[in-house]
Amino acid sequence: MSRKEQVLIITPPMFEKDLNGEHFRFLDIICPTCNGAGEVPQHGDFFGLEPADMDICQRCNGAGLLIADVVVRWKPDETV
Ligand SMILES: [Zn+2]
Repeated sequence: MSRKEQVLIITPPMFEKDLNGEHFRFLDIICPTCNGAGEVPQHGDFFGLEPADMDICQRCNGAGLLIADVVVRWKPDETV
């Protein structure tokens, strides 16, 4: 099964322009907590007999989508 992925290929630049790092934003990522609905069911009706009252999703704040904010900082490898 195929699936669409967002990929960041990490390669050090020849000259470092910004000491705060390289910033990348990945948009339109479906919130896995609410599955893009922007709201989640409240707990309470154990048997699920009543339609669930819904709360706004705290993770995406109701947007249904997330943004991945990635910062890459380059430094010497001192692990070897
Ligand atoms: Zn959400």
